[in-house]
Amino acid sequence: MVRDVRMRGFADRADLEEVEAFLDRHVRTLPSESVPLLDCFERVLSEPIKSEVDVPSFPRSAMDGYALRGEETFGASDYDGIRFDVIGTSLPGAPFLSRVAPGQAVRIMTGAPVPEGADVVVMAEVCEESEGGEAVLVSEAVPPKKNVGVVGEDIQRGDLILSPGRRLRPQDAGVLASVGRASIPCVRRPKVRLLVTGDELLPAGSMPGGVHIVDSNSVVLRGLLARDGAEVLPFEILPDVPEMIRGVMAANDSDVVLVSGGSSVGQEDHAPRLLAELGTLDFHGISMRPSSPAGIGRIEERFVFLLPGNPVSCLAAYEFFAGPTLRRLGGRSGRWPHRRVRLPLARKIVSSIGRTDYVRVAIEDKMVRPIATSGASILSSTVRASGAVIVPREQEGMGEGEEVEVLLYDDELGSSEFDQKEKVESP
Ligand code: AMP
Ligand code: MG
Repeated sequence: MVRDVRMRGFADRADLEEVEAFLDRHVRTLPSESVPLLDCFERVLSEPIKSEVDVPSFPRSAMDGYALRGEETFGASDYDGIRFDVIGTSLPGAPFLSRVAPGQAVRIMTGAPVPEGADVVVMAEVCEESEGGEAVLVSEAVPPKKNVGVVGEDIQRGDLILSPGRRLRPQDAGVLASVGRASIPCVRRPKVRLLVTGDELLPAGSMPGGVHIVDSNSVVLRGLLARDGAEVLPFEILPDVPEMIRGVMAANDSDVVLVSGGSSVGQEDHAPRLLAELGTLDFHGISMRPSSPAGIGRIEERFVFLLPGNPVSCLAAYEFFAGPTLRRLGGRSGRWPHRRVRLPLARKIVSSIGRTDYVRVAIEDKMVRPIATSGASILSSTVRASGAVIVPREQEGMGEGEEVEVLLYDDELGSSEFDQKEKVESP
């Protein structure tokens, strides 16, 4: 077979919105799995959780003090204390086992069961225990139920505690623990196969040298994948050899395949053809900048994203297409996860109608400054940037002074101690 090594440009590029609509139609939340309680933080709940128990399951003291009958303290004051016989002690996990009769009190600690017969805990600060510990003088009237946590005060049996779709916070996991759950039904995390291609690439951790560069895309992708709750399968860098790329692409062991590099129409760009052969290449070439040579397709149930090798393109193509897909597979929102701010532009942004632009910007003095280097190969531009502005397809650009929305790369803008120190020390 004669290999066709001619290069063809993109005949026709799809609009970003077409790709998004396609993903909307095809992406479904993955099925549920049972997750050990201690691993459920940040996982997405797949079923409603109701409590099978009351918390607390016993009347519980909210104070260190004395458990007794509240009505018997009526009339007590600083000048006229009321005396009770102390008949024992109730500690957390070690209750006082008999009943408190009229005129009696039980010494009690926070979290300990309130003994039968008692209906209040009088706090230690308004009590004075006799030297031998056989009696206590109460100098304040306490209304019934005071300082007693009733059964189910926190959670009642049958209560709906958490609803499906919830991304579990640390305190959610805590509540699940307190109602006795050991395993939690969660949406399965999407499994991702990274397919990093390029004859010029050295594995991350190597020193670049000669004509070789270090694979940075997989490092960036791993960070983004961790943020988006995906599970990354082990991978190796592949040379631009079609048979090898095909082998990995065909493996039925993931929900999403991310191909880095070789996505365009160059001589060594095999991924689009291989995807079309193994499944469908639903889109190839998108009206956007950077990332226009991106591709999207499917092989059976798997989504395959062809991410251009240029580092900024790779990042942008991930953020626009792969990220939302992975989050939705994992039961999260497809929205961009970045915090946003609206600020005026210090300089205009030039784009063109019909193309969506992903513009790296710096924020300085509450103004948004587009970063001059627009080249998709300049990864350091994303390090200098505070975030990105998306110029929609129907806009020709954005004018100086116009208020724009910035998707921030960081949750907090320059608020760390390190940043402050830098500011103080700089002239
Ligand atoms: P490609 O999309 O394979 O044509 O690559 C476009 C540019 O991105 C070339 O300069 C590549 O050397 C570079 N590149 C490809 N893969 C990576 C990678 N994993 N990390 C960093 N740069 C890459
Ligand atoms: Mg390449």
